[in-house]
Amino acid sequence: MKRIAVMTSGGDAPGMNAAIRAVVRYGIKKGLEVYGIKRGYAGLLDEEIEPLSFASVGGIMEKGGTILRTSRCPEFVMKETRAEAAKILKRHGIDGLVVIGGEGSLHGAMFLAEEQKIPVIGVPGTIDNDIAMTDMSIGVDTCLNTVVDAIQKLKDTASSHERAFIIEVMGRSSGYIATVSGLVTGAEAIIVPEVPVNYEELSNRLLQERERGKINCIVVVAEGAASAYTVARHLEHRIGYETRITILGHIQRGGSPTAFDRLLASRMGVAAVDALLNGETSVMTALQGGKIVTVPLAEVLKEKKKLDLHLLELAGLLS
Ligand code: ATP
Repeated sequence: MKRIAVMTSGGDAPGMNAAIRAVVRYGIKKGLEVYGIKRGYAGLLDEEIEPLSFASVGGIMEKGGTILRTSRCPEFVMKETRAEAAKILKRHGIDGLVVIGGEGSLHGAMFLAEEQKIPVIGVPGTIDNDIAMTDMSIGVDTCLNTVVDAIQKLKDTASSHERAFIIEVMGRSSGYIATVSGLVTGAEAIIVPEVPVNYEELSNRLLQERERGKINCIVVVAEGAASAYTVARHLEHRIGYETRITILGHIQRGGSPTAFDRLLASRMGVAAVDALLNGETSVMTALQGGKIVTVPLAEVLKEKKKLDLHLLELAGLLS
């Protein structure tokens, strides 16, 4: 193996730059030429491929987003498009590819590897923590810290004015961000896609807590469960608080990555290069019990990561 390439694809996540830096610098130290592909699969098809040097990835670890930029490329679900991508990679002499991204991007990576016979290693980068077989994905920790910081600030104003805040966070199919951020900020209620909500029961409980002397009420809702407006409509007239809505939105994707994400990304970037050098393909780097391992992409993508419902119970017990 002489020349490898790295790309970021799908939704951006803080820490992707640290992973790019690790792939480039470790690859070069191992005697490889490392290329960057801009704008994910779309940039690959447009041949936006350029060499990266050791120095070119200096000062990027602390930056949010991705210096290679990213995109959605719907036509990559078609076999012919992937065959074209494989031809382009071969024409550029690229012997191995590292794809950093979420579930969709990892599907593309698996097809490139298994159907087009390009050696590909996936690296899980997504704020949702919805990728199976890895304890954490790159970006989750930074996102959680951003959400916690925002909820904490809203809690200050909620208690000053004795208000309820309904806070909508990201998570289309996973309630992980809502659950963990709600648990560690002592939210009064957490609404997630994995568990159906009974608004009558919930509002009765919140009302009782209000009558027992609580002066604020924080409800965290994952976007995939309901919109903050829907939740507010169900609760506001029943719980005895003036209600405000906050949708955190894309602020959750940005920001300088935490130490945890920088470390995870650095370790996974190195592991991805090692995997290519060891002749592995169609695998993903994963964090399992503190260790970085590789796991087959086919198995990762077959499984749906489950929310640990004990965390939700714990949040209920402690709030
Ligand atoms: P996030 O979950 O953080 O949004 P993601 O990687 O899951 O990130 P997607 O938009 O789902 O984001 O996927 C990114 C890109 O991966 C798509 O635009 C497409 O190019 C490719 N992709 C997604 N699903 C498939 C698939 N089934 N087969 C081949 N390529 C796919």
